[in-house]
Amino acid sequence: MRIRLPFRRRPDFGNCAHITDVCTLCGTCATVCPANAISIRRNSISKEALADYKGILIFVECQDSGGRQKPKTVVYELLSKGRELADKLNQPLMAVIMGNGKVSDPDHLGNYGADQVLTCTHPLLATFSADGYCSVLSAVISEIKPSVVLYGATPNGRELAPRVAARLRLGLTADCTGLDIDDQAQLVQTRPAFGGNIMAAIVAPRTRPQTATVRPNVFPVTYFDPARKADVKEIAVTLNKAAIKTKIVKEINLTETAGPDLEKSRVIVTVGRGCSKPNLLEKARKLAEKTAGTLACTRPLVEEGIFPHTCQIGQSGITVNPDLYLGVGVSGAVQHLVGMGSSKPSLPLMKTRTPLFFHCGFRDCG
Ligand SMILES: Cc1cc2nc3c(=O)[nH]c(=O)nc-3n(C[C@H](O)[C@H](O)[C@H](O)COP(=O)(O)OP(=O)(O)OC[C@H]3O[C@@H](n4cnc5c(N)ncnc54)[C@H](O)[C@@H]3O)c2cc1C
Repeated sequence: MRIRLPFRRRPDFGNCAHITDVCTLCGTCATVCPANAISIRRNSISKEALADYKGILIFVECQDSGGRQKPKTVVYELLSKGRELADKLNQPLMAVIMGNGKVSDPDHLGNYGADQVLTCTHPLLATFSADGYCSVLSAVISEIKPSVVLYGATPNGRELAPRVAARLRLGLTADCTGLDIDDQAQLVQTRPAFGGNIMAAIVAPRTRPQTATVRPNVFPVTYFDPARKADVKEIAVTLNKAAIKTKIVKEINLTETAGPDLEKSRVIVTVGRGCSKPNLLEKARKLAEKTAGTLACTRPLVEEGIFPHTCQIGQSGITVNPDLYLGVGVSGAVQHLVGMGSSKPSLPLMKTRTPLFFHCGFRDCG
């Protein structure tokens, strides 16, 4: 493949190996070079320097709520998980709020496990911009040196986390379904890999902080202590208007325009390929109505154009955790299960930790 360098004259490298614009520094060339002529020197920090990074930092993404800014539910989920990890490491749990100072009662995050809440206030942070938030958050991380940074895998979190990771030259594991600490005090980040066929446990031994995103509804909110207080600290922010290249033209609330709020539904009726005929879909709709549930689907029904993508549950769709999950004509492929595996565990009577997942069909469906 010929690659054009955009602004420079292409130098003549002759037969020498050289780095092109598409190089990801994966290191394969060094492994396969027959003359052993290529080596890649990666700057890693010493064990002593790694130990300087302490604490878990949660990015607090907020949303508008009656003129004030309120943290999204995923923030409380991350705080519960963060509390557990911080206790294992015996390190503090911190939360960073960015905005124009309209976040209601930042110290209430202490009730959810935070030891310290850092607030970054600036008029230019009033609305989310990936470049503005990235500049400020990168500076905060460089200053306080946390060992772990966690983001919600929301549209904004997914835009921000890789930018910060690239700017600070860090690893990032997206859409983690499990987080733990190993015996070397490293963050073990579990996520589906190879099309969901294996669960990979990923560590970042050479860089700090270790950064990860987690989808909403993956971890439950398990920590609440009304007596716990967080120490709130204001961080001075320097942010130049020229650093923000994104211009927000219009904000559209997708949950209002494009489909049901599956993430909050307590009962979900999911239809799969075995239930895609119109008469069966009608029955599923009635079942959802009778159970006060929300209708959702598997990926094949989105591909067939029967449902919008906002109704798809699974690895490339939405993650849900209802109390009751009914699957009609669903085979239970791993890519689907990964989106509903955090549904409430079965009743104690059933002596199993698996969610209430009923796979069923209708009597007259052939
Ligand atoms: C990278 C990647 C990401 C993916 N992401 C997602 C995702 O986010 N969400 C998702 O759902 N899938 C996803 N998939 C697709 C996934 O692998 C499966 O193909 C999909 O989940 C299967 O959907 P299904 O269960 O509806 O269909 P099928 O696997 O075809 O299952 C249909 C089921 O219906 C049963 N059935 C047939 N007729 C009847 C009947 N009359 N009554 C009752 N039961 C009947 C069949 O026995 C079968 O068990 C992804 C795949 C890849 C590779």
